Amino acid sequence: MSENNNLSVSAAQACVLGFAETDGSEEIPLERALGRVLAEDVRANRDQPPYDVSAMDGFAVRSADLATGGVLLTVIEDIKAGDLPKKTVASGQCARIMTGAPVPPGADAVIRVEDTRMLTDDSVEITVPVKAGNDIRVRGENMRHGDVVLHAGTEITPGVIGLLATVKRARVNVHRRPRVAILSSGDELEALEAPFDADKIPESNSHALMAQLQALGIEPVRLGIARDDPAELAGFLRQGLDYDVLLVSGGSSVGVHDHVRPTLEALGVAMHFWRVEMKPGHPLAFGTRGGTLVFGLPGNPVSSMVCFEQFVLPALRRRMGHPALFRRTVTATLAHLLKHRPGRMEFIRVTLATEANGRLRATSTGAQSSGDLCSMARADGLLVVPAESGNLAAGDLVQVQLLDGSLYQRTAGFVEEAA
Ligand code: AMP
Ligand code: MG
Repeated sequence: MSENNNLSVSAAQACVLGFAETDGSEEIPLERALGRVLAEDVRANRDQPPYDVSAMDGFAVRSADLATGGVLLTVIEDIKAGDLPKKTVASGQCARIMTGAPVPPGADAVIRVEDTRMLTDDSVEITVPVKAGNDIRVRGENMRHGDVVLHAGTEITPGVIGLLATVKRARVNVHRRPRVAILSSGDELEALEAPFDADKIPESNSHALMAQLQALGIEPVRLGIARDDPAELAGFLRQGLDYDVLLVSGGSSVGVHDHVRPTLEALGVAMHFWRVEMKPGHPLAFGTRGGTLVFGLPGNPVSSMVCFEQFVLPALRRRMGHPALFRRTVTATLAHLLKHRPGRMEFIRVTLATEANGRLRATSTGAQSSGDLCSMARADGLLVVPAESGNLAAGDLVQVQLLDGSLYQRTAGFVEEAA
């Protein structure tokens, strides 16, 4: 399986996505649906609006009566939204009408109240001329009965929620969200809850990963910290393999204490690759058992987060039914020299600022050590240096992957030679 070593980022993404299938659906109440992905086409349950309605508070009139301004009309009826008109408007007549109320028979235009003057309780002067169709929203102009108004694969945003309520969908079919477990491994790690010990390494990866998952709408389970002991590790990994996705942090490289890969294999996990040509994040293992995806993420805190962004995030979005799997990338102007030796794709933590000309300007957060979370905490995005690139100069246009926000795209957005 050594040919699966040292994959390019694109090849590794393709491998992971080849094993990530979209999960089935479940029916949930609308009030719990924000952020989920529709697993069905949704159709309009009637014409909307259901009849010609007024777009304004005003008077429903016959435009033929109103070729000029300054005409007097008799008010025959008051029509509120939700009422049905009882009378037909004849020549010389009008009906008072509220926004959203049905236009009565006989009338073919609405004149807003601001363009009228009441003379008595039932006599109104129309001060401006009006054309047929004025301020009328026509039956079915928003949607027609039976039209697909939302396609399967649509992410449920607040606007989508409003539309679903409009077509009376109190329950909707959405893709299931995968159940995800996180396991940290390493003798040196000290849990957040444990008393401070200056000789230990604070365990942070499970917390950062949990937050990355929560940002995608997934509530993961943290299994704890496994010591670098094959038997203890196996116990934890067995639990983790009951989930749809298992993230193991640390222990995946080739040191004598790195037991994750052999232990996973002993538990029946087929390993597909364990090294990717990227920086940070070189040791990255990926395997599957049945439908379960297992990621052996690097222990270094920045590497763990960057690998999550490139491989775990697209796989999870695929499972949840999103058509756009990848973080949005933007073009920015590099603020300074960036040294790079051709070989591995590099992800540089940068801040972004908008220049006077409207372009984004990318500035490195400083030291890019894969152990230094300060750089990650400050970053707006990851500047992608293509594997084959040499040094980048100040003023060069670069691609930056945005680290948060709700915009995603269908392709990874960086160009790279296939390995
Ligand atoms: P490893 O991949 O196990 O060789 O770990 C690489 C480095 O990452 C070591 O310095 C570890 O102490 C550190 N590390 C591993 N796991 C974690 C974790 N869960 N939280 C913070 N640092 C970690
Ligand atoms: Mg370790």
